[in-house]
Amino acid sequence: MKIIDLRSDTVTKPTESMRQVMFEAEVGDDVYAEDPTVNRLQEMAAEMAGMEAGLFVPSGTQGNLLAILSHCQRGEEYIAGQQAHCYRYEAGGAAVFGGVQPQPISFEEDGTLDLSQVAAVIKPEDDHFAITRLLCLENTQAGTVLPLEYQSDAADLARECGLKLHLDGARVFNAAVRQQVSLSAITRYYDSVSFCLSKGLGAPVGSILVGSCEFIDRAHRWRKMAGGGMRQAGILAAAGIYAMEHQVERLSEDHLHATMLAEGLARIDGLNVDLDAVQTNMVFVSIDPEEQSRLIGFLKVRGILVGGYGQLRLVTHHDIEAEDISCVIEVFQAAMASNNGQL
Ligand SMILES: *Cc1c(COP(=O)(O)O)cnc(C)c1O
Repeated sequence: MKIIDLRSDTVTKPTESMRQVMFEAEVGDDVYAEDPTVNRLQEMAAEMAGMEAGLFVPSGTQGNLLAILSHCQRGEEYIAGQQAHCYRYEAGGAAVFGGVQPQPISFEEDGTLDLSQVAAVIKPEDDHFAITRLLCLENTQAGTVLPLEYQSDAADLARECGLKLHLDGARVFNAAVRQQVSLSAITRYYDSVSFCLSKGLGAPVGSILVGSCEFIDRAHRWRKMAGGGMRQAGILAAAGIYAMEHQVERLSEDHLHATMLAEGLARIDGLNVDLDAVQTNMVFVSIDPEEQSRLIGFLKVRGILVGGYGQLRLVTHHDIEAEDISCVIEVFQAAMASNNGQL
C-alpha cells in the first residue's frame, strides 16, 4: 500500500539527483570553516536573502534559538505570537539557554501580530520590567502569507521603538513563490531570518540563519555552545544547495495541490475548510471532535496520514502528486459517508 503522508512537509525524502550531489560533495572540517560546500551554501543563502552573511544550522529550532540569543541578553525579552513556533514549539529554549523571556500575544486570523498590540506590550524603561529587545514574526504562519506592506510597517515600528526584527521564515520560500517575489523582497525588512531546507524544499536536514556579519559571528559562537558545530557537513549542505537551485519554483505545485485538496474536502458534508486560509501548502479541516479520531483511524488504515492538534492539518509537498490528492478526497468522502465507526 502506498502511504500518502500529509502530516508535514518535513517527511520528504531526498531524490536520486539530490543524493547524487550529496555523494559527490567536496567536504572539509566546517568547525575550521574549511568545508567548501557549507561555505558555498552560506554565501548563496546570504546573497539570495540580500544579507551580509549566512550560517548553516542543524534545525530551524536552532536557527531561531541562535537568533534570539544573538539579539537579546539575559533579562531581555522577545515579542512573538501565542502559537509562534519560537515561543510555543521550541521547548522554551531561549529562556533555558539565554535567560530571555518571551512576551506572547495572539496572532490575528491572517497570521500577523496586531502592531498596536505589539507597541502596547513594549515595556517602558523601568527596573521592574524586562527590556524588550526583539520582535519575531512568522511567515508563513499556519500556511498564510504575511503581506509585504505589513512587514514593512512592522519594520518601521521596530525601528521607531529600537527593537530588532527577526523572521521565523521556516517556510518563507512558500511565501515568496505564492507572492511571486524574490526571497530578498521579503527578507529586506528584517535584521535576521531563519529558514528551513528540510521542509518544502526537500533537503533531508538543515536550516539557514542570515543577518549581518556581526550578528552571524555571535550566532556562530552560540551554535558552537549549543553543540551545532558540525564537521564534514558539506554532504548535507550539498542537498541544501540543490534544493535552493532546483526545488523552489516547484513549491507552486504544492500550493496547487493544497487548493485542489481544500476545494475537494470543502464539498464533503461534515467537513469545514476555510478556503481563504489556504494560501500555500497547508489545509486545515475542522470536524466534530467526536468524529475526529474515528476519521484519523479510517484514513490511517488506508495509508493516509494526517496531523493536527484540534483541527486536522494536511500539508502538501514534493512527494505528493495530483493523483494522491484525488485519492485522499475519495477516502474522506467514504469516511464521512460511513457513519458510526464502521471502517
Ligand atoms: C518547522 C518549523 C520550525 C523549526 O524547524 P525544525 O527544523 O523542525 O526545528 C520553526 N518555525 C516554524 C514556523 C516551523 O514550521
